[in-house]
Amino acid sequence: MKCKVCKATAVVSLPSHNTGFCPDCFMSFYERSVERSIRRQKLFTFEDKILVALSGGKDSLACALVLKKLGYKVHGLHIDLAIPDSSAAARGVVERFCAAHDIPLIVKEMEQEGLQIPRVKKVLSRSVCSACGRIKRYFFNKVAMDEGFTALATGHNLDDEIARLFSNTLRWDIPHLSDQGPLLEAENGFARKVRPLFRLTEFENANYAFLNGLEYHYAPCPYSPGATSTAYKKLWNQLEEEMPGRKLAFYTAFLSHGREPFRQFEKAEGTKPVPCERCGYPTSAGICGVCRTRDAVAADE
Ligand code: SF4
Ligand code: ZN
Repeated sequence: MKCKVCKATAVVSLPSHNTGFCPDCFMSFYERSVERSIRRQKLFTFEDKILVALSGGKDSLACALVLKKLGYKVHGLHIDLAIPDSSAAARGVVERFCAAHDIPLIVKEMEQEGLQIPRVKKVLSRSVCSACGRIKRYFFNKVAMDEGFTALATGHNLDDEIARLFSNTLRWDIPHLSDQGPLLEAENGFARKVRPLFRLTEFENANYAFLNGLEYHYAPCPYSPGATSTAYKKLWNQLEEEMPGRKLAFYTAFLSHGREPFRQFEKAEGTKPVPCERCGYPTSAGICGVCRTRDAVAADE
């Protein structure tokens, strides 16, 4: 196969776009696609101070790299979860990446916060992953708000977005359907959240990371349960193989006209968050989940 642009030998084949690219033209395609997403969805501008959540995985690193290359003001945030056989390696990857690309890095250590994940796991009766996810979201938001960032970016790709949309749809989960998308405006104590890679698949991100020589963290977390989103991703990959372009079409149609009725319903019927009585973080009532988890860990000492 030949590169669609320069006719050199193609190294990345993209059936969903019915095309293929050589390394340089693929990079331009990828960067233009991110730029277009940012502009069309009005995610942020060159004036914004953007905090990128960096787990050490290829998607978050690709996200920070492409924003930096496009000329945006980027800082990194890494949450050190203190998980044995996983967190130290992930942190090392993020630190080396930020040093190599001149990206200022903030690291939040859960050990210092009394929320190291192995201890959280010990005091919980249910899955640690929902608590871990909540803790990460809490600190992403807190650092963004406390440090004056105007956008909080994550490396969610099209496959992540489709899996989540599919799961929300199967449950007709109105609150989550109403706020799914590449942009969530700042409100009620939450920072502005953006997902600049929403048009790009996991495969495209992996190629971008590889062609840029990125070292990334891929050792699975020892608590990883084999998420249901993996099953949805498998299903959608089968569908995409038979009908190239279906993922992007499903997602963009949802954004253009599928989501609005859920938003209207939620606006009329939904409940507004209130500040946590302890820390001020938005919560449904009383003391937030992270403060309660912190209490449970402290009580177990
Ligand atoms: Fe946290 Fe679960 Fe992910 Fe491990 S697999 S990092 S516990 S959310
Ligand atoms: Zn709280």
